[in-house]
Amino acid sequence: MKKLIWLIALALAGVLAIPAMAAEEPVQIRTAEELQNMEPDGSYILMEDLDLAGIRWKPLDFCGSFDGNGHALLNLELSQPGDTTANSCDGNSKLYETGYVGLFGTLRDAQVEDLQLLNVRGMTQSDSPCFLAGLAGYCENSTISGCTVTGYLELRAHDRMFGVGGLVGYGSGYVRDCNVDITIVCTDTDPASRDEQFMGGILATGFMDIENCTVAIDGYSSEYGYAHNGGLVGMLMRYPLGDWTCTIAGNSVTGKITFFEFNSDRRAYCKGLVGEYMTSYRTVSDNTEDFVNNEQFTYDAELRPEMCEAPVYQETVVPSDCTTYGHTVYTCETCGYSYRDHYTLLEHEAIEWVLTEEPTTEREGLSIGRCACGLEEFRRVEEKLEPVPTEAPTEPTPPRPEQTDATVREPEEQEMTVSLTMILVIGAASALLVVFLLILLRPRKKKRGGKYLRR
Ligand SMILES: [Zn+2]
Ligand SMILES: [Zn+2]
Repeated sequence: MKKLIWLIALALAGVLAIPAMAAEEPVQIRTAEELQNMEPDGSYILMEDLDLAGIRWKPLDFCGSFDGNGHALLNLELSQPGDTTANSCDGNSKLYETGYVGLFGTLRDAQVEDLQLLNVRGMTQSDSPCFLAGLAGYCENSTISGCTVTGYLELRAHDRMFGVGGLVGYGSGYVRDCNVDITIVCTDTDPASRDEQFMGGILATGFMDIENCTVAIDGYSSEYGYAHNGGLVGMLMRYPLGDWTCTIAGNSVTGKITFFEFNSDRRAYCKGLVGEYMTSYRTVSDNTEDFVNNEQFTYDAELRPEMCEAPVYQETVVPSDCTTYGHTVYTCETCGYSYRDHYTLLEHEAIEWVLTEEPTTEREGLSIGRCACGLEEFRRVEEKLEPVPTEAPTEPTPPRPEQTDATVREPEEQEMTVSLTMILVIGAASALLVVFLLILLRPRKKKRGGKYLRR
């Protein structure tokens, strides 16, 4: 008896534990709307590549976990800061209330992994302190791993503290195994004010461990205050003004930063890894760089990748296939500058169908289609089989069509092949049968035969 009570108790505990375990499963994201409406502290997993072109993205404040699951967000357009401001800190430990622009405006104690942001297009203008980045404008004690960012980020600002990072604008935390291939333009729009400007392929400024990342950067900065440019980090500072040792290891940087610092008190920080170190608590090891510091000493024009006044672009469309995202290449007819834009989702095609569920008279069957890449994401519903009428009289029934495929059957034609004598003999039965057949053969939702429905 005791045993039985124990068993019942165990079973009850198991049943009660199921909902608790289910609650820990990450919520699946399949649409841009679901992505935009994520709860700040939730746990999420991306189940599809999403094209975000044309969406006025509102940067998210997030403190949960987000698994990109290897999927890509294409054509994320960034312009406005998120709702939440947070202090940024300059090299003299002065704080500024700052706005942040990115897929995430602010990350706090968050985890983001395995996400591709392909062809981010950022264009932000700000009259107050502001940071722009592909993934997170602001990052506090968060971990970002296995993420990719490609695209173009441009910030026009002038107030005290601003900058652009390929992955993160300002903040603290950990970045591992990320790839960034980015064009950055950061322009000081007010020659009269002395501001601090930051640019980095991974991080504009702050304190982060950065390990095993790859950066390709093409940067342009026009600055009348102080510029801090680095292939990896613009300025690495003590954070949070303590003696925590920061690790910069195993990273690889290629690229060039073109800039001017038009300022009588010129510092002109620009390096392949870190533009300026504001902390001695650091371990920097095993990094490689192939970097050009392309400082300019003429100040009459804003620096940009495209310097033609009215460029005319030739467009070459590269279509998507199974494994490569398509895009359009724009090439300036005058100077030859070229960039990619308008990425397109992968295109899979079913080349082989396998019947996995035989259709019966009761239910439809199912075939699974396989793409050349091995992906089995297509399904095709197979028509129900035709039932053999059971209520027919003992007299011979009209000939039934051999063909069981409903899409090619013409009931009227078949009826006309029945001989007149037969019709006279079994007139009443036939009429009944026609009505029966018409009801059965009226267009059904699965009449789409070859149409591929994605699971
Ligand atoms: Zn495929
Ligand atoms: Zn041009």
